[in-house]
Amino acid sequence: MATLAAPALEFARLPHPAPASAEQRAEVLANPGFGTNFSDHMVSIEWTEGLGWHDATIGPRQPITLDPACAVLHYAQEIFEGLKAYRQADGGIALFRPEANAARFNSSARRLAMPELPEDLFVESVRQIVAADREWFPTVEGGSLYLRPFMFASETFLGVRPSKQYKYLVIASPAGNYFKSGSPAVSIWVSRDYTRAAPGGTGAAKCGGNYAASLVPQAEAIERGHDQVVFLDAAEHKWVEELGGMNLYFVFDDGSLVTPALTGTILPGITRDSLLTLARDEGLSVREERYSLDQWREDAGSGKLVECFACGTAAVVTPVGKVAGHDGEFTIGSGGPGQLTQRLKDRLVAIQRGQAADPHGWVMKLG
Ligand SMILES: *Cc1c(COP(=O)(O)O)cnc(C)c1O
Repeated sequence: MATLAAPALEFARLPHPAPASAEQRAEVLANPGFGTNFSDHMVSIEWTEGLGWHDATIGPRQPITLDPACAVLHYAQEIFEGLKAYRQADGGIALFRPEANAARFNSSARRLAMPELPEDLFVESVRQIVAADREWFPTVEGGSLYLRPFMFASETFLGVRPSKQYKYLVIASPAGNYFKSGSPAVSIWVSRDYTRAAPGGTGAAKCGGNYAASLVPQAEAIERGHDQVVFLDAAEHKWVEELGGMNLYFVFDDGSLVTPALTGTILPGITRDSLLTLARDEGLSVREERYSLDQWREDAGSGKLVECFACGTAAVVTPVGKVAGHDGEFTIGSGGPGQLTQRLKDRLVAIQRGQAADPHGWVMKLG
């Protein structure tokens, strides 16, 4: 089990003067949805040039006031993370690999010319909000408390250079099962006219700007009757990269798997990384390599490709049943959820929820 290091900063604790009533909370927790309901508290920590990180607070969740010239509103210097706290089989609460989120947050910070947050402080901030809002765990099957740490340039300044002030906040949102009943297979649309990330760009950083750029292609996918957009590489427009917010895996008839290699334009998902380890634990061969759209189509047609799935913290593992593009569409396997997809998902979820052994020390119990 991972251990907690001492926090680098003391948190001022300001309990909410008027938290949601037990009735209001119960109503939300019985049907939480995703990303629309929020807990009572938030973490905030300030960074100022010369002073570093200061004023760590766990206090009431409330609106923040920004000057119209606040740097983030103009040049999008912003990064975020997404992780979940899980109710355990024994009634306790645990985080899943929060140090991996802390490390990725700092790698995003470096790319966006922002200050790094000590990893201990990141983990402690997440611990603080879970402790303050432990009444906010959904009562529904598959529910969790989704945590959103983020940082933005808060200096009032219109010049183009890194900000001299930043705000780091953590908010929490009770989340239900991403899909109401199990995981239906989704249909994905191959974007021809748009790319997500170019070599040398910000594709490997978890920054809001990447998402802003993905909204038009995602809307195009929806308009054409599909669920998600899949992006090809920007240079050759040939290699399959990832969805707008999820990584991809391909499963072959010999039981081996392929996931696109982390070339710098793909977001290094923690779910992707965990599944890589779990599949190898099972003795499966997993190759991290380039996989082209042409190969994808050919392998689906010949039956060599038997399953395909997308993965990420929010939806965990989502089977891909159909792929469509400007030059036609193809079905993968039966078009429904595959067996290996389901088994890997069950294995991961069981570890996250304390229902299975944790051989890699991924689960951080919070008591
Ligand atoms: C967050 C994210 C993922 C998934 O990462 P996880 O750590 O597994 O949640 C994949 N792709 C993009 C673009 C993302 O922003």
